[in-house]
Amino acid sequence: MRLCEICDLKDIGDEYHYICVCENKNITTLRESILPRYNWQRPSMFRFTQMLSSGSENISLAKIVCFVIAYSVFST
Ligand SMILES: [Zn+2]
Repeated sequence: MRLCEICDLKDIGDEYHYICVCENKNITTLRESILPRYNWQRPSMFRFTQMLSSGSENISLAKIVCFVIAYSVFST
């Protein structure tokens, strides 16, 4: 089990956390700029799975995942 190291929530650093919950300022800014408000304003696992199955936000999700990977690599 790996905890998120880029915010103070001490949550498990999984896809749901980074895409919907993480409070890192850079990720929050990116999330709010590329995902519809519905997906991040009141995050839930239900909305997360809805977003993943919709297909329309896949490019946005890919951007966040790439950002998190790059941030993790270059901040260590
Ligand atoms: Zn986090």
